[in-house]
Amino acid sequence: MFWHWAYAMISPMHEDAVSFACPHCGIENTHAADFTGGKRQKFVLDCENCCHPILIRLEIREGEIENFTAEKE
Ligand SMILES: [Zn+2]
Repeated sequence: MFWHWAYAMISPMHEDAVSFACPHCGIENTHAADFTGGKRQKFVLDCENCCHPILIRLEIREGEIENFTAEKE
């Protein structure tokens, strides 16, 4: 089962930061994307609120975040 309920809200003021709702508790988390980490990135973050692991997938194209998903790890 692939969870697609996370979303990216990319602010024009902070192009490198992504905000997403934690798939466990729904609290918004913010993460600064690492544009030097490759075009396709996959890593796990701990939610700032509930500390559950969140699997992040990030795709970067021409210096912009093209695709971003956050799922239960
Ligand atoms: Zn959470």
